Amino acid sequence: MAGQLGGQPIFILREGSERTRGKDAQNSNIMAAKAVAAAVRTTLGPKGMDKMLVDSLGDIVITNDGVTILKEMDIEHPAAKMVVEVSKTQDDEVGDGTTSAAVLTGELLKMSEELLDKDVHPTIIASGYRLAAMKADEILASIATDVSPDDEQMLIDIANTAMTGKGVEGARDKLAKLCVDSVRSVAEDTDGKMVVDIENIKVEKKVGGGVEDSELISGMIIDKERVHPNMPKKIENAKIALLSTAIELKDTEVDAEIQITSPDQLQSFLDQEEKMLRDMVGKVVDSGANVIFCQKGIDDMAQHFLAKAGVMAVRRVKKSDIDKLSKATGAKNITNLDEIEKSDLGTADLVEERKIGGGNMIFVTGCKNPMAVSLILRGGTEHVVDGLERALHDALRVVGVTIEDGKLVAGGGSPEVELSLRLREYANSLTGREQLAVGAFADALEIIPRTLAENAGLDPIDKLVEMTSQHKDGNIHAGLNVYTGEVIDMWKAGIVEPLRVKTQAISSAAESAVMILRIDDVIASKGEAMPPGGGGMPPGGMEGMGGMEGMY
Ligand code: ADP
Ligand code: MG
Repeated sequence: MAGQLGGQPIFILREGSERTRGKDAQNSNIMAAKAVAAAVRTTLGPKGMDKMLVDSLGDIVITNDGVTILKEMDIEHPAAKMVVEVSKTQDDEVGDGTTSAAVLTGELLKMSEELLDKDVHPTIIASGYRLAAMKADEILASIATDVSPDDEQMLIDIANTAMTGKGVEGARDKLAKLCVDSVRSVAEDTDGKMVVDIENIKVEKKVGGGVEDSELISGMIIDKERVHPNMPKKIENAKIALLSTAIELKDTEVDAEIQITSPDQLQSFLDQEEKMLRDMVGKVVDSGANVIFCQKGIDDMAQHFLAKAGVMAVRRVKKSDIDKLSKATGAKNITNLDEIEKSDLGTADLVEERKIGGGNMIFVTGCKNPMAVSLILRGGTEHVVDGLERALHDALRVVGVTIEDGKLVAGGGSPEVELSLRLREYANSLTGREQLAVGAFADALEIIPRTLAENAGLDPIDKLVEMTSQHKDGNIHAGLNVYTGEVIDMWKAGIVEPLRVKTQAISSAAESAVMILRIDDVIASKGEAMPPGGGGMPPGGMEGMGGMEGMY
């Protein structure tokens, strides 16, 4: 870490910093990234295995969803973290293909190792990978098929493909239909361009009943019940007030002591409190509201007054639910009861408390905004409904992406095999060493069909050879049916995915592989951070504080 100047060593880094350079840095980064990819590889595809994740509190998640696994793993190595980022980006952009993206990144790096061993410079590999990624985009676009957002069967197939292997087999058809219906009801045509914001779909989980009891509600569902049994259970033509302030008397800020010396005094004190609460309730009722969703608490006595006035009230509603209710019903969020006005109220045809599973939920239907829809997911246990939610998340996103883009490719490894073939042709048309890198990129893509076969207990080499030969014969949709082991036309079998899932995975895998490859120096500073948990000083604690010594 020290240079030499006239015999004097020169220190440029703080003591304790760690630095790895050149080949060592490269090797360690590549190894770490490969390790992350290997960790999720066995989960790829319908026949992939699951992982059981146990967090520090002992809570268990069982899943084969790439991004969920990677997010839960406590990964420290910086290059490994970059692979996790690829997966997260994939999740943000398209919601599916998160395992594929991480696996591909790992394979691109593995291939680059072989090139590095042959003394191909990382810059050459990087530029070859970039060329290949660009070309891949072009090829994918040319093999993609246009679909209409009205093609319901196609959308159902897409949802089904995204949910295959996510442990929801029994309920897949039902979920796929729910998914397509809900996405279509929030799809908006803005200037001829379809936009889908799946945030508009509120997903509520309720343990109890079976998956087949899951349903789509056009409107909002709030997982709460009315505060008082004497309140109406059902209100038609609802005028809805959203309160982010409590209907309670404020606690006195200063510690006031009230001395009561006679029963009269006590009575008048209580009367005073009652009057104040009655006033608060009066303000809301006078505005014309007959339904209240309150983010904070509602005093017992106020509940009683509200019930007498025939108002349905719900308390401690989540802020996010209040925001969604506001969007759905047009109600304004009221922060001060003195300012409540008729125009602040939202409307809905019906607000009703219904019994679902073991508890009650509030249904707000016939909302002003038809975009507001909710899905109730039902299942026997919490793990089941959580699994449904994760599977559905992917499906909602891919159906949304398809409605937006209108472009599909077949699945089952078929686009990867086709790409691999065509990229090899492309590589042959290049001169110079980049040719090697483009070839390596083509090889790396085969990791997807190979892994699908492997995870299904099939011979990956045989299957790859079979697929490749069919693709050479012009069957661009030839892919692996992981259930039978046959190579079939994936398009005809209805195994389809949005084009964007593939283009996004390839481009972010390539980008991060290139980024990792180009690093030849890792400088890690340490010493300033307190040990986790904050307990105790690091050795040599005090004088290290704030890094002061290093400044002189
Ligand atoms: P990811 O997180 O990458 O989406 P998945 O475990 O969902 O990982 O697996 C996706 C892969 O499984 C894709 O390559 C997809 O084409 C493939 N696949 C999905 N359904 C089938 C099927 N029925 N037969 C063969 N391959 C399938
Ligand atoms: Mg998937």
